[in-house]
Amino acid sequence: MSRPKWVKKMAEERIKKLFEEAKEQFEEHPDRSNRYIELAHKISKKHNKKISKELKKKFCPLCKSYWVPGNTVKVRIDSENNRIVYKCIKCKGKRTYGYSEEKKE
Ligand SMILES: [Zn+2]
Repeated sequence: MSRPKWVKKMAEERIKKLFEEAKEQFEEHPDRSNRYIELAHKISKKHNKKISKELKKKFCPLCKSYWVPGNTVKVRIDSENNRIVYKCIKCKGKRTYGYSEEKKE
């Protein structure tokens, strides 16, 4: 049985809000930010609602830590391969994105 559309829409809004709160809290309470990301994940799973591509770049897929460039993540442009490399400072996990994809933002 599929859930009504508005439930998914609500989950999507909630996830977005959590990411916004994570951003706001990061400076003073970075651990809170991580908790918001965890919560966003739970909601995403519960409602079978994927976290959008845009938001996926804001946290580590491995340790779920909130990513702030230069603070919790190192961002390196690999112009040779036309991609951007994100390296999580907490768990050293790496994630790469195509350059063209990044430019759309
Ligand atoms: Zn990590």
